[in-house]
Amino acid sequence: MSYIGQYFVLVGTRPEAIKLFPVINELRRQANANVFVCATAQHRELLDQVLKLANIAPDFDLDLMRPNQTLDQLSSRLLLAIGEVIDRVRPDRVIVQGDTSTAMIGALASYYRRIPVSHVEAGLRSGDIYAPWPEEVNRKIVTTIADQHFAPTGRAADVLRRENVPSDRIYVTGNTVVDALHAARSLIAANPDLASYSRSILTRRSGQRIVLVTSHRRENFGDGMNRIADALLQILERPDVAVVLPLHPNPNVRDVLGARLASHPRVEMIAPQEYPDFVQLLAAAYIVVTDSGGIQEEAPALGKPVLVMRETTERPEGIEAGTARLVGTDTNRIVSEVLRLLDNSEHYSAMARAHNPFGDGRASERIVKVLLNDRASKG
Ligand code: UDP
Repeated sequence: MSYIGQYFVLVGTRPEAIKLFPVINELRRQANANVFVCATAQHRELLDQVLKLANIAPDFDLDLMRPNQTLDQLSSRLLLAIGEVIDRVRPDRVIVQGDTSTAMIGALASYYRRIPVSHVEAGLRSGDIYAPWPEEVNRKIVTTIADQHFAPTGRAADVLRRENVPSDRIYVTGNTVVDALHAARSLIAANPDLASYSRSILTRRSGQRIVLVTSHRRENFGDGMNRIADALLQILERPDVAVVLPLHPNPNVRDVLGARLASHPRVEMIAPQEYPDFVQLLAAAYIVVTDSGGIQEEAPALGKPVLVMRETTERPEGIEAGTARLVGTDTNRIVSEVLRLLDNSEHYSAMARAHNPFGDGRASERIVKVLLNDRASKG
């Protein structure tokens, strides 16, 4: 007999929406599950696009996005606003994902009310509390509070056990990002218009090898962003390469990458893409160069070599599987790794094998099974 509960799911940013929509929809498929979705809208438009695609209308929308708000301002607004809504809903369980301020503060607000917390994508660690900052500590705080830990990989589960999380509260499920990727590809197959924008770019660039680039990490703002722009300009000296660059709206990114690359004839400087368009670009890319967390997980699932512009990663599984390499933001390193992939077909093939170190596309099914059947922690 399943536990019939009220689940309260918090979603703050685009990657949370991408990684939680398969869980929300799977929970909703279970007739007896009562699911409330609360968007904090820590990111506004990027979040709305994904929820709309997944046919999810949030039950609560806290609309907390403000231009240039500090972490203090965001955290204090989140704590008051999430606490108020939790008091209205009185859920049996709160579900948070990943490492955002929404996830961390959502867990804290739940703890203050003694409501159990489930953590989707638990156990990722870089080992450096300042990279990714503040996400490494956000994720650790959620671990301290949660009583259900959905680890995407065996490695993440090991990390949690080493931190003395009881083994019977850890569930290895795979990462729901792979479920989302599959869902997006099915949606595109059923309705190609969903990705018509990216298709027009790919048509324009046919015959060129696409280097898909995204950058938005705080650690890379400033000099790092300039070194990335230098590297891309050197790579573009190759006439067979087109750089496709969905530009993050943050001024630290826009004012450097946007200003230095937009006028190049082989650069497609485009707005942040809706998820189906982005998935289609990923599937068509020859090489992916990124500092994103989620893209490090999606690229291996599609067999795309991915160069990670970070010094450390909390997702080493892609590197161990051979699909990803850490390149930091050193100009020469980025250029030489891209050229090696372009010129050395054996090296390219070795990196381009598709593996799924992050999951098999059934993570949300496993998570929902636990959510519906686990009564162990109910007080
Ligand atoms: N993504 C997207 N459109 C874009 C760029 C990325 O839909 O223009 C998706 C991508 O497929 C991945 C997620 O956004 O699932 C990653 O988000 P982001 O890089 O913002 O955050 P991170 O994963 O680093 O937290």
